[in-house]
Amino acid sequence: MAESVPQHAHCQMCGKSIPYGETLCSEECKQKYQKLLRRRKLIVYLMYGMLAALIVFFVLYGK
Ligand SMILES: [Zn+2]
Repeated sequence: MAESVPQHAHCQMCGKSIPYGETLCSEECKQKYQKLLRRRKLIVYLMYGMLAALIVFFVLYGK
C-alpha cells in the first residue's frame, strides 16, 4: 500500500493542513483557541455554580 499523503493533522480552528503533532496552524489561531478554551471553562464553572446553588436551595428549602 503506497502512502501518497504524508501524516498530517488539521488546525483545530480553521481546518488547514498542518504538520502531524501540531494542533493549530498559526499564532492567530492559537489565540482564538485559547479564548475559546477560556470561554468553555467559564461555562463549566457557571454550571457548577448553578448546580451548587440548586443543591443549597434544596437543602435549605426542600424539607
Ligand atoms: Zn488555523
